[in-house]
Amino acid sequence: MRPISYLRAEDIDGAVRTVTADPDTHFLAGGTTEVDLLRQGVLTPRRLVDINRLQLAGIEALPEGGVRIGALARMSDVAADPAVRERFPLVSRALVLGASAQLRHMASMGGNMLQKVRCGYYRDGESACNKRRPGSGCAALGGISRTHAVLGTSEHCIATHPSDVAVALVALDARIHTRTSGGERVHDIDGFFLEPGDTPDREHPLEHGELITAIELPPLPLARHSSYLKVRDRESYEFALVSVAAAISVESGVISGVRLALGGIGTRPWRARRAEELLLGAPATPENFARAAREELSAARTTAMNAFKPELARRTLVRALETLTRDGDRR
Ligand code: SF4
Repeated sequence: MRPISYLRAEDIDGAVRTVTADPDTHFLAGGTTEVDLLRQGVLTPRRLVDINRLQLAGIEALPEGGVRIGALARMSDVAADPAVRERFPLVSRALVLGASAQLRHMASMGGNMLQKVRCGYYRDGESACNKRRPGSGCAALGGISRTHAVLGTSEHCIATHPSDVAVALVALDARIHTRTSGGERVHDIDGFFLEPGDTPDREHPLEHGELITAIELPPLPLARHSSYLKVRDRESYEFALVSVAAAISVESGVISGVRLALGGIGTRPWRARRAEELLLGAPATPENFARAAREELSAARTTAMNAFKPELARRTLVRALETLTRDGDRR
């Protein structure tokens, strides 16, 4: 058994200083990923800094129409927040469809942004895995890969990004606020989740000791008409095979605004920019939805086990858009 020491942080700067000073010290928030991986020997810190007493759990409706979510806000509190539900229903829905009720009560929003992949080879602590041990290989490439990614993969890693709510946040151009020992930083969410490339062990641009303090949802009126559609093997407590975060406005039958992101199929939450480009200014018809979905998935690279995913993603994207537009114009 490896001994681990425990500290309770009383202020943000102290917590950041303590973790920054030691590569073997980690933050501990809800613990729903960290504790699992400690038990399995995948993560091996020698010290944990509990940040749960820091004043970072607030959810604030901003005057211009956005929402600021503290990094320690629990998933269930964010899902139920009136401003989130009214202004960004896709965020609330993605949270409700994630994990289990018990996990949603414990897991923090900041931790959700940093959760680790569910690839079994990563989590068993022994298989070849470039993400856990760089240069050791990737057991999933010739192994069980039914749930693995088809977009954003590399020859070094094909693990799917596991978060639901991150998919909604990517569609909304959310911003991640952090604190480092040098001060405040803000990360655009587009650059926050890294594709594996040659360095699958590097998943975020965060420095060691950089603490997420808040997630900001900028104002986006069309997000009031939005949804999160999740397809999975069972109805609860299961990761997405495919998911779609969608927001759309339609005027006189023509798409005047659209945001789309896909989950369950990418090594990062996948902003469907190609589909957005094709749809903006086009009539809101099933044919156009299908064409946009086809184009977005055209770069998919599959294994023998997950070859069903591109078609499932195309159909799910079309269904999400048809459902949002079935009552005609939406502004
Ligand atoms: Fe590791 Fe990625 Fe390969 Fe899974 S897919 S075994 S996480 S390198």
